[in-house]
Amino acid sequence: MKVKPLILFLCLPLAALAQLAIHDVTVINPRSGEVLRNVTVLVEGDRITRVGAAIDIPRRFKQVNGSRRYLMPGLWDCHVHLTKAGVESFPLFLANGVTSVRDMGSDPNEILAWRREIESGKLLGPRIKFSGRILESKANVDRMKREGGVEPVDRIRYPIANPEEARNAVAEQKRIGVDHLKVRSVAGLETFKALADAAHNAGLKLTGHALAAPKEVIGKMQSVEHVIAYPPLDQMDEAERRQLFRDMSSAGTYMSTTWVNIDGSVLVNYERARALIEDTKGKLDPRRRYIKGYLLSDWKEQVEEKKDPEQAKMEGVLRAQLPSFVRDFRQMKEEGVHFLAGSDTAVTLIYPGFSMHEELEIYVKQFGFSPMEALRVATHNPAEFYGIEAAQGAILNGQVADMVLLDRNPLDDIRNTRSIRAVISRGRLLNRSKLNKMLRAVRQ
Ligand SMILES: [Zn+2]
Repeated sequence: MKVKPLILFLCLPLAALAQLAIHDVTVINPRSGEVLRNVTVLVEGDRITRVGAAIDIPRRFKQVNGSRRYLMPGLWDCHVHLTKAGVESFPLFLANGVTSVRDMGSDPNEILAWRREIESGKLLGPRIKFSGRILESKANVDRMKREGGVEPVDRIRYPIANPEEARNAVAEQKRIGVDHLKVRSVAGLETFKALADAAHNAGLKLTGHALAAPKEVIGKMQSVEHVIAYPPLDQMDEAERRQLFRDMSSAGTYMSTTWVNIDGSVLVNYERARALIEDTKGKLDPRRRYIKGYLLSDWKEQVEEKKDPEQAKMEGVLRAQLPSFVRDFRQMKEEGVHFLAGSDTAVTLIYPGFSMHEELEIYVKQFGFSPMEALRVATHNPAEFYGIEAAQGAILNGQVADMVLLDRNPLDDIRNTRSIRAVISRGRLLNRSKLNKMLRAVRQ
């Protein structure tokens, strides 16, 4: 007798449904600041279905021993460029516990195609929120095209010359279905205002570089990337600065840092950067072995730009401002500003996934965050930014099953976020041997 097609159809999704039990584990929930000891977390499909002590584990569940281990929500990298980093970066993110990313400028068609494949389970990769192309002043895009280079400028930059073009750009990005907008340069204050108004009317969050005076930016942009540098906040006294940060906080403008990029990429000198790039065997930095293809050629080009005297001058100015930026971040935190954290993956010497752990370490060592607060920035805050806290950002019933199992306690030392035993992404268990296999595949 033939098997009825209906039964076959029903069996397939059921067989694919993950049923996991991580038992005797310490759960760290940065959203509430709670630590639960000796609990069991049940996962069914791509959701967490139970968290608690004394849970009877149904026999059909695959068991993961969490004893003397720590379970935290999956990390977000809030500043990446996936078109540049390529699909090869996906296993690097996952192997580092980065289960979600916020793309800050890529080819929207490519991102949408990847996202469909990831959501359907065909491709392993992080959840993606994306901005589409980077909104830029037209003059800037024209210059980039004149100078030429390996970057596919037209695919990832959106030239805007005036307020009308700004409105059209927002409408087009909205049609594509982007999650937010990213602006990097702008033709003038009027164009910036038109852009911000159009974004607001379209219900899209405007993120990007702080292009205008802080007073113009606050309330109009929902996240400011990297640092606030123009004009340097040093021109204000402390009371004025703190007032500005309180305004940021009440307007809901997030500070989105990528300090690892400034510290580990922009300010690395030419000789050191060249040596790291030529180190194909990974003797100076083992992470170098994971970088190849387009990303590597883009890095080589970026490093050569360090020889340009203009670039060197810019780096010098930036270097002199570093202590002020750190002071600003510390004061922003004190005044209640919410942070996002990113690596700026695709920039030279930023290693997809790996560099996020450095960014977290910087939060604790330089910005005055406790390890729990730093974890909150990279788990709860992005969910809060997009208004999806009901589904993501914590280990609770009903949340998506994106989690990281650690061998050592990140609350004792934030560097322990690197002690990854397993990653659960969309309910799928990636244990250490699977993660090693994924990493090996990228190296080869
Ligand atoms: Zn960027």
